[in-house]
Amino acid sequence: MSKRDYYEVLGVGRNASTDEIKKAYRKKAIEYHPDKNPGNKEAEEKFKEAAEAYDVLSDPQKRQRYDQFGHAATGAAGGGFNADFNIEDIFSRFGDIFGGHFSMGGFGGFGGGTSGGRRTNRGTDLRVKVKLNLAEIAKGVEKKIKVKKLIPCKACHGSGADGPNSHKTCDACRGRGTVTQPTQTLFGVMQATVVCPTCQGEGKIITKKCMVCAGEGIVKDDDVISIQIPAGVGEGMQLSMSGKGNAARHGGVNGDMLVVIEEENHPELIRDENDLLYSLVLTVSQAALGTSVEVPTIDGKAKVTIEPGTQPGKVLRLRNKGLPNINGYGTGDLLVNVSVYIPEKLSDSEKKILKGLDESQNFHAGKAAKDRIFSRFKNMFE
Ligand SMILES: [Zn+2]
Ligand SMILES: [Zn+2]
Repeated sequence: MSKRDYYEVLGVGRNASTDEIKKAYRKKAIEYHPDKNPGNKEAEEKFKEAAEAYDVLSDPQKRQRYDQFGHAATGAAGGGFNADFNIEDIFSRFGDIFGGHFSMGGFGGFGGGTSGGRRTNRGTDLRVKVKLNLAEIAKGVEKKIKVKKLIPCKACHGSGADGPNSHKTCDACRGRGTVTQPTQTLFGVMQATVVCPTCQGEGKIITKKCMVCAGEGIVKDDDVISIQIPAGVGEGMQLSMSGKGNAARHGGVNGDMLVVIEEENHPELIRDENDLLYSLVLTVSQAALGTSVEVPTIDGKAKVTIEPGTQPGKVLRLRNKGLPNINGYGTGDLLVNVSVYIPEKLSDSEKKILKGLDESQNFHAGKAAKDRIFSRFKNMFE
């Protein structure tokens, strides 16, 4: 069966914000919720379809891959999109949105997953910021970052129990991890299967707790994480490192680490996507006579020839002196925007020279020059 476009499934535009995507998914999920459409196969399919679309579009990296490759990116080669959800997966992963508050996805995590009714704990995601300068962005860089995070307790190997025979089966759920009870939902009170409150869904209870971690199985500790940052990243981009986040209670699955890129301003260069901009200020005589100047680049200086008669507003393009595209599509340019400085105070002798120049016909723009200047002026507004 051919798949519908994910944006179409959620009814959002291709440049919808994360927030808009969340809102759209919530609406669809409520509309096609199984509790509201009992036995309706079509609603169930729609419910799954929306979850799949949300899974991809809510994750910046998956979304980027999807935008580039479409559904081809969801295959095994594309790297792990959840192409086939079952209803249980959806509740365990996105269950939060059916509650009163809608979690802002990612950060804090969705709490855990289920397997055969019992819950597998999932550690929360860790979010770190990495500050990079343009030189690091141009080449890509490895950063070592010290983080405080939850790791499995060494004394009990993450189990939370003191010794091997310190567990018993939970009486409240008889080891199933879930209990059935009346629950207030969006659609009124219903009999619902919920996580067992006695054992938090684990199906067993620790009878003798580990002293080191007080039975949690996790402790806070410093960790040094090495992050390989690809060339061409930009302010606000997020890299996700699977399994590098916080450890889970009682030996579950680690959360992810989300690396948010912060870009340091360069003292002289301005970034415009993959291009860099530089403002070059010439003297009147440099512009008129021509000269050779040096302009800053990311890795040193470049020599630029200024032709005689260079006009203010001229843009010189230094090919491939910009930043690499993050997806490997070439390198940007360095654009040198020329200005000419007109002195603000003049001595008497300088005034005399300039007045002399003003009498020369050559210093007055003719019609052709005026037309050229006008057309450049016009282009600025188009
Ligand atoms: Zn229980
Ligand atoms: Zn312990």
